[in-house]
Amino acid sequence: MTTAAVIDQVPDANDPGPEWAAEVRRLATLRGATLLAHNYQLPAIQDVADHVGDSLALSRIAASAPEDTIVFCGVHFMAETAKILAPDKTVLIPDARAGCSLADSITADELREWKADHPDAVVVSYVNTTAEVKALTDICCTSSNAVEVVESIDPDRTVLFLPDQFLGAHVKRETGRTNMHIWAGECHVHAGINGDELTDQANAHPDADLYVHPECGCATSALYLAGEGAVPADRVHILSTGGMLDTARASGAREVLVATEIGMLHQLRKAAPQIDFQAVNPKASCKYMKMITPEALLRCLRDGTDEVHLERSVADAARASVERMIAIGSPGGGGE
Ligand code: SF4
Repeated sequence: MTTAAVIDQVPDANDPGPEWAAEVRRLATLRGATLLAHNYQLPAIQDVADHVGDSLALSRIAASAPEDTIVFCGVHFMAETAKILAPDKTVLIPDARAGCSLADSITADELREWKADHPDAVVVSYVNTTAEVKALTDICCTSSNAVEVVESIDPDRTVLFLPDQFLGAHVKRETGRTNMHIWAGECHVHAGINGDELTDQANAHPDADLYVHPECGCATSALYLAGEGAVPADRVHILSTGGMLDTARASGAREVLVATEIGMLHQLRKAAPQIDFQAVNPKASCKYMKMITPEALLRCLRDGTDEVHLERSVADAARASVERMIAIGSPGGGGE
């Protein structure tokens, strides 16, 4: 098949083929772009990218990469975070409509109102937020360092934690902090992984380890099950996506149940092919992440769309909250 024939066809989302990959690489070189792919992207997109990782790790790569153009295969707030950390670069996302139900669960106006009710509070935001919300935030956090960030705050100051209620509950439990208010936001994918499914799967796979992402609705029930002895505590690992990969590489387990978006299984299987990884909920797929199709990536590289734009004042204020997070503790392979 010739390159021209590939361009004229809509590539198969699940198996776009080697010609598509070659064309993507050719166009990326022509454009002087580096390709970043989030762990929840389609396997073909992950495999064609220069770097695969979680949102914050990718944004830091965007800032340090020698290329002037960043193509961010992920959802919109992630591409914004790359633009925040690399304001002088051109940041492209293959489909700007790829949103995030968690980031959309709080707007800048809602945060302004919440802050007005608690004028002395310190605002801590998870990285799944828009640039405008980050600009109104004191310190950002990832799932790896959320506990450390909250612990760094004067115990007498009230904390407003947003937007994820499950990560907030996890942090509150770990820190024992009582003067902490949690926004009732959630991700539709993670909230769909519940305790019943986890219990059923844990019973069906009695020898399997459990990897649980703290944004999942099942994080609380996983800890509860461990506390009750239903699942031995040493089998339950509450991990960021980067932490899952590190743990898998060092693990002697034969079977692992994974409670997060199913795209994560691709990198886990590559990192530890000897382990049988199974999704707690095989339907936990993010429709926004999957809007970045092989076809959309080709269009992006060919036409230079969609470009991410941020007002300089918003980007500068947002950068300050992200840099405070980096100064406080290692964000690690954190974030989603
Ligand atoms: S999986 Fe959830 S939190 Fe992640 S991008 Fe999709 S909607 Fe947002």
